[in-house]
Amino acid sequence: MAMLELKDLRHSYVKQPEAEDDWALKQVDMRWEDGGAYALLGPSGCGKTTLLNIISGLVRPTEGRVFFGERDVTDLPTDERNIAQVFQFPVIYDTMTVYDNLAFPLRNRGVAAPEVDSRVREIAAMLDLTEMLARRASGLTADGKQKISLGRGLVRADVSAIMFDEPLTVIDPHLKWLLRSKLKELHQEVGATMIYVTHDQTEALTFADQVVVMHEGRVVQFGTPVELFERPRHTFVGHFIGSPGMNLLPCELDNGRPQFFGHSIETGSGALATTDVAALEIGVRPEFVSFAEEGIPVEVIKVSDAGRYSVVETRHRDVIIKLLLQEGERIPSEKAAVRFDPGHTWIYADGWVQS
Ligand code: ADP
Ligand code: MG
Repeated sequence: MAMLELKDLRHSYVKQPEAEDDWALKQVDMRWEDGGAYALLGPSGCGKTTLLNIISGLVRPTEGRVFFGERDVTDLPTDERNIAQVFQFPVIYDTMTVYDNLAFPLRNRGVAAPEVDSRVREIAAMLDLTEMLARRASGLTADGKQKISLGRGLVRADVSAIMFDEPLTVIDPHLKWLLRSKLKELHQEVGATMIYVTHDQTEALTFADQVVVMHEGRVVQFGTPVELFERPRHTFVGHFIGSPGMNLLPCELDNGRPQFFGHSIETGSGALATTDVAALEIGVRPEFVSFAEEGIPVEVIKVSDAGRYSVVETRHRDVIIKLLLQEGERIPSEKAAVRFDPGHTWIYADGWVQS
């Protein structure tokens, strides 16, 4: 398809929205390039499904427009948008066979029988459904039914985008991993734009080239997994992505220079002009904190072994600072000092990174 663009989008399920909380989507402006593999990542209730339904046409936005390339599709019905959508829970016809379920989206569009047959068999093979093609869908397990749902989303060769809304929720963990790799492979084969919605950072980061992180009805960052890791634009991205998430520490300014309880902190953020923000924080991921001869004095309070890494919890006054150390790195027994890598330490004002 063409590029997908969302302009000034706002959506409320309330008839006359007044308070900020009445808006399920508060403000979304985005461009998705053609052919990309995208993940839409955020906790339950942040507006992911609402956004997908607006793109597919199931929901009409309260404000704003949706464009496919130059074309304004905001007023077009779903079936004129040429988008396939796979929902969180299986949507299938129980009384039909697996074969007929997969064939349905094609027959519905008048595709000729031989082509229907070859597409159905191809998709069935990919999803390990070949043995079951002749069976009635009603007899299948939840896994099997969701695989049919996925197949129905993937079967049309002519769609411009395929959107998956937490499609692996009902699938068991082993199969989940398999299907996720398959979807990624498939994206490379068909080249259609794919938007994969999830609340699971591992799923998002393994599937997508670009991740859209949503929080409370807003897109807080749109970037590659590396960008989300190295330079979170918002404290939400800092603590939601990573395990453990980013350290967020109280910050004061002394002549524009960030201080942590009187310790001057060097950061990647430039000089700070503004002091009239509600909350100023220093953000540094545990990967970029290390023990040092000189630095912020801390007490080591807990060490957890996480395989190839150790997570070390330290404390300065009543503030916890976490470090992620490689196996074999020395961990001081009690009193120690830590330093932050200045190139990966950022200042956040009211949640947003300062450049
Ligand atoms: P997500 O998919 O990220 O879990 P949703 O888009 O489903 O989030 O929901 C966003 C917000 O909109 C939530 O507060 C949810 O309760 C509300 N919401 C979603 N669908 C409806 C609906 N049909 N009617 C009223 N409120 C809804
Ligand atoms: Mg949802």
